[in-house]
Amino acid sequence: MSKDSVLVINCGSSSLKFAVINPKTEEESISGIAECLVGNDASITWKLNGEKQTLDLGAAGHEGAIEALVGILRENNLMEHIEAIGHRIVHGGEKFTQSTLITDEVIQGIEDCSHLAPLHNSAHLLGIRACIKYFPELPQSVVFDTAFHQTMPAESYLYAVPYNLYEEHGLRRYGMHGTSYRYVSKTAADMLGLDLDNSAILVAHLGNGASACAIKNGESVDTTMGLTPLEGLVMGTRSGDIDPNVFSFLNKQCGYSLDEIIDLLNKKSGMLGLSGLDNDCRVLENAAAEGHQRAQLTLDIFCHVLAKKLAGFAAELGRIDALVFTGGIGENSSMIRKNVMERLSIFGFDVDEQANEETFRGKSGVITKPGSTVAMVVATNEELMIARDTEALIAG
Ligand code: ADP
Repeated sequence: MSKDSVLVINCGSSSLKFAVINPKTEEESISGIAECLVGNDASITWKLNGEKQTLDLGAAGHEGAIEALVGILRENNLMEHIEAIGHRIVHGGEKFTQSTLITDEVIQGIEDCSHLAPLHNSAHLLGIRACIKYFPELPQSVVFDTAFHQTMPAESYLYAVPYNLYEEHGLRRYGMHGTSYRYVSKTAADMLGLDLDNSAILVAHLGNGASACAIKNGESVDTTMGLTPLEGLVMGTRSGDIDPNVFSFLNKQCGYSLDEIIDLLNKKSGMLGLSGLDNDCRVLENAAAEGHQRAQLTLDIFCHVLAKKLAGFAAELGRIDALVFTGGIGENSSMIRKNVMERLSIFGFDVDEQANEETFRGKSGVITKPGSTVAMVVATNEELMIARDTEALIAG
């Protein structure tokens, strides 16, 4: 049996996603999720050879989920294939500019960044410590969502607030979805035969969380998410950009507490709040098709804000070699893509209606006509990127 695969772990505050991936063949032998890890009804579900199975875990936390995962991997003879573990980490602050192998110093570094993403980083640390306990012989790496954006110039990452807040507290734009942007921009360049080191690529990563990124010569030069994932585009339940004084307005006019305002802007706004229907783009598209005007307005606002950001990024890049759509909405919604491209017609986008309609469910490809500025879909694969990074790190 050859050790040729990486166990990819993505710990959320109450869940743990995993996959075993061979970075060379890109084959995924098992994938799954442990859920409800805070409480008494945790469970783990996995997909193996096309079949789904679920096991109740009772009051298992992240460590219990990892212990159960070890059992599942052993039972299915997958353990002997795993050469290393790669962890997705949401926030690496300014400390981490690339993926790295785990050492005590790296663990301390992740802890030091915890105030920037308290729920996420503390969950990641639980996962790392459990993996050290249950896979003591395996090397482990960490791959940061923020690392790709560390190439942004100061004019992109600084907020116009007193400078000491940046110096003393690290208050700045960090951006997210970096692993996806790295994968998608490289894949797009490969597909188009572009030299990544001499390229200008716009990417819109549109899922429940959504952001956009300007990528010059393979490096992030600007992005829409900020200190936290709340800034930027309209999202499933997040407001995206608002006047910061909305905080005092909601407090003074409406009597909301700070926690209530944070909850409102993160969990009750965006597509859900605007439409009053749902945070899921599919539900809104279906409702709009049936004449629900606010659903249509919500979709239009989503596209309007995205197009406005992309237009600004295009000016920063100076040219557009490709506009790439990815994430659940970007990969599947021909309607959103068309709406956005039409708003950006000043940049020479000419939609290929048929190619646009036919590109969904994991398919990648160009969706504009010959002669048009190129727009395309690339199905993202953050897990594969984490597996590739991990393998490269252990290969030295
Ligand atoms: P996350 O940010 O949670 O990773 P995903 O990238 O999985 O999100 O995207 C999830 C979103 O993708 C869903 O909320 C849904 O709005 C959208 N989506 C999935 N399929 C379609 C589709 N066929 N048409 C429009 N939107 C879709």
